[in-house]
Amino acid sequence: MQPIDQLTNHVRVDAAHQKALKRLGIETIGDLLYYLPARYEDISEVQSVGGLEKGQEAVVYGQLSGLKTRKAWKSRKPIAEGYVEDGSAKMKIMWFNQPYLAKMYTDGMYVKLAGKVAGSEGKLYLSNPEVEPLDSLPIDRHDSIFAGTEGAGDTLYPVYRETKGITSRWLYHTVLKLFEKGALEDLRDPIPEEILKKYKLPVLKTALVWVHSPKKASDAEAARKRFAFEEVFYIQVQKAQERAAVSAAETYTVKTSPEHLTAFTERFPFALTAAQDESIKSILQDFAAGTHAMSRLLEGDVGSGKTAVAATTAYAVATSRPPEGLNKKIEFGALQVAYMAPTEILAKQHFESFIEYFHHLPISIGLITGSGCMKFPSKTDPTKPTKISKAQLLKWVQNGEVPILIGTHALIYKSVEFKHLAYVIIDEQHRFGTNQRKKLAKKDARLPHLLSMTATPIPRTLALTIYGDLDITLLDQMPAGRKPVKTTIVGPGQSEEMYDHVRSELEAGRQAYVICPRIDEPDPTKENALNMKSVIAEAKRLKHDVFQDYVIEPLHGKMTTAEKDDVMKRFAEHKIDILCATSVVEVGVNVPNATNIIIEGAERFGLAQLHQLRGRVVRGTHQPYCFAVTESKSDKTRDRLKALATAKNGFELAEHDLQFRGSGELYGGKQSGLSDLGMEAIRNLKLVEAARTEAKHIVESHPDLTKSFPLIAEKVARLGEVLHME
Ligand code: ADP
Ligand code: MG
Repeated sequence: MQPIDQLTNHVRVDAAHQKALKRLGIETIGDLLYYLPARYEDISEVQSVGGLEKGQEAVVYGQLSGLKTRKAWKSRKPIAEGYVEDGSAKMKIMWFNQPYLAKMYTDGMYVKLAGKVAGSEGKLYLSNPEVEPLDSLPIDRHDSIFAGTEGAGDTLYPVYRETKGITSRWLYHTVLKLFEKGALEDLRDPIPEEILKKYKLPVLKTALVWVHSPKKASDAEAARKRFAFEEVFYIQVQKAQERAAVSAAETYTVKTSPEHLTAFTERFPFALTAAQDESIKSILQDFAAGTHAMSRLLEGDVGSGKTAVAATTAYAVATSRPPEGLNKKIEFGALQVAYMAPTEILAKQHFESFIEYFHHLPISIGLITGSGCMKFPSKTDPTKPTKISKAQLLKWVQNGEVPILIGTHALIYKSVEFKHLAYVIIDEQHRFGTNQRKKLAKKDARLPHLLSMTATPIPRTLALTIYGDLDITLLDQMPAGRKPVKTTIVGPGQSEEMYDHVRSELEAGRQAYVICPRIDEPDPTKENALNMKSVIAEAKRLKHDVFQDYVIEPLHGKMTTAEKDDVMKRFAEHKIDILCATSVVEVGVNVPNATNIIIEGAERFGLAQLHQLRGRVVRGTHQPYCFAVTESKSDKTRDRLKALATAKNGFELAEHDLQFRGSGELYGGKQSGLSDLGMEAIRNLKLVEAARTEAKHIVESHPDLTKSFPLIAEKVARLGEVLHME
């Protein structure tokens, strides 16, 4: 039996089952073996129904039957009753004075019952047990592995993620069957033994046995650690390979003098923060070395001034000459920069900022979005930009006359060709990867430098994993004079006070955002109709009940770009006082006069996300306020939210999220492409660093991985593009 064998060749599976298995991603023997339990349940406290004695506090697992209600014959009090059966015996259950219970549960249901054994010998019953419905029963503790393990310590049974038609129980039994049939015999461990030894991780066969049928908790844990390491290791190998490919390609050298740069930066209406200065230095170092294309991630809170870093480094590029061509032919023009933003609004905003930064220089700037093209300066009025045709702009980009092109995704269409694209800047585009960079470079043999900017604070371990091919620079300092946001947690019944405060701010001439509760949806990056409805309804309610004297407008993802642009424009011009929006719309839009933000349903967000949302109001010189509104009465929720008021920056909050929220809720495991176990692994910096070190080492020392480590190469290939950030 080989891991690549179809499961159906060894296990009887009907068509419906097969389809269900496919949904879980299980087609081969290997797939099933690697389908790990989501968790374990300890059944050491579980008794078998047949062995119960009077007076015992019992926990049993079984199937319900014969549910009904009746009146006690003497007292006429209502009694709900039924039976529980677990394979060893069947026992009566009685609930006194709770007749509705019989209606809440149905015959055939699997349950966990906890209650006291009462009655008399031969007529025992379980009295008033608590009921917990289950998707399936734990493995029959009377057969297979737990038989004969008395004294082995814990009794754990695995619980797998199920799908319609495939129970946890079926998965467990099938895995055991495969073990019996010798599925482990032909298994080869992809991870080299030295690595496993070094980190004291179990070899594959042991790990599989331990993970699927552990005899003690520590075995299961050791096995899970190994699989977590393995998952992160493959990702790191992939990232190391990407890095090696980038290193091998030729790039542009960009040399600048400090005086040249100062001439540009001293015109800024502010002094650069030390963090901005440092980031610019690191980028220029990569440019100057020119040995291989830079791949850098610039992480900085909203308002930390990433645009100035982008502009300064773009300036260095746009004032540099292209390299000598063939036969030492001198090339004219300058190196080029492409700056890509996720939305039209942001692309336009960057275009305007760049005009501010560059207007005194003979450097043209182009803007390309889905709704048209612009160029600065205009021929007729050199202080202003002008609309131009796409064909004209593309011609100028192609012949190198426009050194800086800003835009949305329209930038990477086939029709856009650069003469000497040396630098690509990406704003808030997590999904921009190596392939897109190559696409942009097109016929050009040289690979452009890449700067990816993000305000999404993610924990270091996650960054090291999903951005493993990038160097990371933190912009962890806010410009001087920024007033930190005053954050208040608003509990049930406290909204009047909040509205009074916001009203006084509006009276003083400020504006406000109201972020509507997120209604959970399958893909958190996309908006659904429910969210749109909640935004519209909340805008109406606020106008009607709370802020009658002010202009309130909704903004949501289901609006057209033109509609959104119009609303944003009017908000920026203060023709709108309150913008009522969903959380996914236009992060990063700059309206300095908007200094209040109300976030409804705050408990539904991660702290890092809340932090990012409130970053929208840290723009001006007025004191900004954030109100995190929660209907939750739980202390835990409020404690978690309180961290917002004390944390120094987004990264601290991201770490907080990682430790205190279920990993599955974080950053959408699906989006990052990590499994639940992989997300679990992200909590462990040592493990991530170990996987990274070993992956780097193996890729560097074995450039031809396919030959030296075919199993690893195969696993990495199977990772596909999931984590490719595109
Ligand atoms: P983000 O990092 O969110 O992209 P921006 O680049 O949009 O931030 O900068 C936010 C605001 O801060 C802009 O108005 C910008 O002009 C201003 N700014 C940037 N750097 C500094 C600085 N060092 N001192 C003061 N203000 C700054
Ligand atoms: Mg920005």
